[in-house]
Amino acid sequence: MTKTETKSTVLLKHHLKTLKLPTMHHECEKIAQRCAADNVDHLADLLQLSELELIERERKAAERRLKAARFPTAKLLDEFDFAARPSVNNPLILELLKGEYLDRRENLLLVGPSGTGKTHLATALGMAACAQGRKVRFYRVTELITLLMEAKDERNLLRLRQQLAKLGLLILDELGYVPASKAGAELLFDVIATAYERSSLVVTTNLPFENWTEVLGSERLTGTALDRLTHRCHILETNGESYRLQDAKRRRRST
Ligand code: ADP
Ligand code: MG
Repeated sequence: MTKTETKSTVLLKHHLKTLKLPTMHHECEKIAQRCAADNVDHLADLLQLSELELIERERKAAERRLKAARFPTAKLLDEFDFAARPSVNNPLILELLKGEYLDRRENLLLVGPSGTGKTHLATALGMAACAQGRKVRFYRVTELITLLMEAKDERNLLRLRQQLAKLGLLILDELGYVPASKAGAELLFDVIATAYERSSLVVTTNLPFENWTEVLGSERLTGTALDRLTHRCHILETNGESYRLQDAKRRRRST
């Protein structure tokens, strides 16, 4: 390498760093050598470098989105045994996986008893949405209500609401497991009402519709929330007994 080349390499690396192009910075010499060996022109060299930068940038962004979504455990649809849950509409899940319902701001309600795969399906759909570049956040309902109440006390409610409003998909897991306080239910309904027509909600619940008022309180508020939630909504029922129980029984039979 000549003296001027060394100088220009140093300068180039400096500029790439300033421009926040770490992959180009890291790979430029390697690619330049390869291009020289293959007799490829400078533009092709730049093209390869910028492609690497883009790929790396997207990978990091996807990683960040996944982390920010805070799924309790990673779950994929591939791991879901549809044969064990015949009540689940398989074609609908596969359709939802494509994510077009999110563009249409449609909601999904997963209703069924405990252990029947509601959280699993909600997570798998959420992870797919993350991979498609959408902002997703997973909350257990009790956790979100606590956060909302704390934010209200600390006068931070507006900020939390603004954060929630930026999401493409809000997942509310376990609605109705614990009866909400009146103030808590009101804050939650407010989130649901705000999300309505702006983004999509995926809600899991073990509560049949007729019991919603009993658990969530106020007939009027529950009515409004239910009305909004179920407008443009897909409903999936996960009937039957707990998957783990089924699994344990199957194993016992086979031994
Ligand atoms: P729910 O949210 O309805 O209470 P979960 O989604 O938490 O149920 O399921 C309980 C456990 O059983 C999880 O580990 C989940 O991955 C697993 N599971 C449930 N249904 C299935 C299924 N059909 N195929 C594979 N694993 C399942
Ligand atoms: Mg669950």
